[in-house]
Amino acid sequence: MNLQRACASWPQSDSELQTLLAAVAPAVARILPENLALEFGALACAQEGNELTVAVSQTPSDALITRIERATGLRASIKVVAAHLLTPEIARCYGTVQIRNTAAFEEREEQNLSQYLDQLLERAILARASDIHLDLVPDKTRIRFRIDGHLKVVDNLDASAATRLISRIKLLAGLDIAERRLPQDGHLSFPFEARSIDVRVATIPSEAGERVALRLLDRQSGNQQLEQLDFSPHILSSLQQICLARGGFFLICGPTGSGKSTTLYALLHALCREELHLCTVEDPVEKIVPGITQVGINPKSGLTFAVALRALLRQDPDVLMVGEIRDQETATTALGAALSGQLVFSTVHGADIVSGIARLCELGQTENLILQALTGIMSQRLVRRLCRSCRRSTNVSPDDAQRYGFNRDATVFAAVGCERCHHTGYRGRVAIADIALFASNQSTAKRRANLPRHNYAGLLDDARRHCLAGDTCIAEIASLFQTEASSSDAR
Ligand SMILES: [Zn+2]
Repeated sequence: MNLQRACASWPQSDSELQTLLAAVAPAVARILPENLALEFGALACAQEGNELTVAVSQTPSDALITRIERATGLRASIKVVAAHLLTPEIARCYGTVQIRNTAAFEEREEQNLSQYLDQLLERAILARASDIHLDLVPDKTRIRFRIDGHLKVVDNLDASAATRLISRIKLLAGLDIAERRLPQDGHLSFPFEARSIDVRVATIPSEAGERVALRLLDRQSGNQQLEQLDFSPHILSSLQQICLARGGFFLICGPTGSGKSTTLYALLHALCREELHLCTVEDPVEKIVPGITQVGINPKSGLTFAVALRALLRQDPDVLMVGEIRDQETATTALGAALSGQLVFSTVHGADIVSGIARLCELGQTENLILQALTGIMSQRLVRRLCRSCRRSTNVSPDDAQRYGFNRDATVFAAVGCERCHHTGYRGRVAIADIALFASNQSTAKRRANLPRHNYAGLLDDARRHCLAGDTCIAEIASLFQTEASSSDAR
């Protein structure tokens, strides 16, 4: 294809544009420095004499045209092209091409940038971070990792490096680089130790500038087994009993980040055997479990929880996992399936068992129906686990003893900090839980009597147990119950 000629008579149809853009040679694209290409979502398509044809996804400002002309020393002829056509070609021309050793200074800087991103993701995975946050504070962009539920600053970048880093992330995630006024979401894959880490990228325009959050999903890492989750013995044996249930509804309540999915995956893992058909509908699929049918919802294309769930019920499932119940139709379908003999696992946003049931009632279900369907209900939280290398034993203060129901002479442990725990005093997390089980022949009245009467009472009992065992400390319990302790009967 004669690109100069094609550019001169710039095509209008998407398919012709696609052919033209696909024919752009990286060497030509690279006439335009990568920082400009990434910052403005621009692709240099062809050069004829001293004129450079540059495709951009949005009508450019005069300032952009001036910067392109200054950087290239050529006169820019600007063409506007839809971002979805342009972005993959920018990625092709800049993303995968090896940078020559004789690279100009700017190119070397870009190479550093892509190395920096790789190293940042690697560091995050090695630090067991669940999320990476990039946000603007005056004069710089702060990079933080969320590790064990807590954010920690790991680096600061100056504004221009941050802009280019964000553009690179957006490019790799298939987002429109030039769009900074609307939120966007996408994802990229990052290879790490022979597996692929799925990184969900979400941007939002804030008053301070564009903010980016990355969620790391290590979908191919092994699943944890129930026994590895360090539940208290009575919680573990209840969960093992749930796996033997012939049908019914098992619901886990808790806020975001309380470890509900990890527990659900461990249950699936325990049930995964040849004679059972296990299905999941999730948003998104967080872990791949070989041998089961997993469906990730995609509301943009109409695949909602309710639609996927109805379709899965036609696939003759024995066990169904519904990632989360958020709407009435899903609640009705899931409870219906449980009442007709399937074993259904799900989660709901709710502080504890009492509010979990209230949430289902808000979604149009009657308490009687919920109680009939339930085979078990659980609430859970995650607290930080004390580092075993440095924790120290201590006495409970009279105040804490009274507030959290410890004996006055009880011995507990406190965080210290050492090399092994990066001087935080903590390593990993431990689950605090409360659970109620229902026998299949129990009447609704008996089931109702089986429910906890007080908010949080069961969670607090379990928290105290883990404190006395030295798994966690009173400071963690205090932050967990700081709002609850004053309002509930905490003894
Ligand atoms: Zn330590």
